Amino acid sequence: MDMLNSIDTSVGLDVGGTRIRAARVDVHGRIQGRVTEAVSRDRDSFLRQVLRLVSTVRDDTSRAVGIGIPGRVSGTNGAVHSAGYLDIGGLDLSHLVMEATELPCRIENDATMALIAEAQNTSELVAMITIGTGIGGALLRDGRPFYGSDFAGQFGHIIVAQNGPSCNCGQRGCVETFCAGPALGSLIAQAGISKGTSASDILAIAAGGDEVAAQIVTDWATPMQRALQSLVAVVDPAFIILGGGLGADMAQALARKPDVVDWFDRPIKAARLGDKAGVVGAGLAALFLDNDS
Ligand SMILES: [Zn+2]
Repeated sequence: MDMLNSIDTSVGLDVGGTRIRAARVDVHGRIQGRVTEAVSRDRDSFLRQVLRLVSTVRDDTSRAVGIGIPGRVSGTNGAVHSAGYLDIGGLDLSHLVMEATELPCRIENDATMALIAEAQNTSELVAMITIGTGIGGALLRDGRPFYGSDFAGQFGHIIVAQNGPSCNCGQRGCVETFCAGPALGSLIAQAGISKGTSASDILAIAAGGDEVAAQIVTDWATPMQRALQSLVAVVDPAFIILGGGLGADMAQALARKPDVVDWFDRPIKAARLGDKAGVVGAGLAALFLDNDS
């Protein structure tokens, strides 16, 4: 991909637990056209859906495909090890896509793709945590994903309570069990507040002085604050971006809790690109990351 033209584009796909987004993305990360659908969870129909979306979105300027997957993706070869609710573990997706489309295909964890979009032109070490149905994470250094031996960035599984609730990963007390969407839903239900109340509603009610809402915010934000402190202690990123559907709300919830020991305190920013980050990052990764890295 070293002879890129300014009009070249790529196709970025962002696979979520419920939706799949596809977009044609230019070299500046601008979206030229996009499609969103409910995601097919079964592996054969998933593959057909991916190929159909690529052919819908691509045009004759498209040079590559990038796909963000919600789960464990090997940093060394892009193999999909597991993808939560989707039955695509072990699927040799990049190879199948390359064969069918005749375009190079880059696969990364979805949080990595979002971080690539959010941290364009940043050479520092930066971290991202995505908060939605689950909690994902990613690290970027010199604009490149940092995976350690293979899987670094599984920040949803930072343990914040040694005897906490069981997590899907097999451990107990992971931050995901306290701070992902379902856990927030339980906090709201336990407080007797109506089910459809959103995180931003709770934050607004808490800001108005309501003690029950304030307690929900504290119970939701405290485990995340612990996890962020552990993250800073281990890798000391220049800043941390909170993304996913609940990222901006969590950033606001954390801002209400100033009790951080100085040296664990790094800037926390809400993601800027919202639900576009995944497709934009996937498109940029397809164009700019070398395939042998
Ligand atoms: Zn876990």
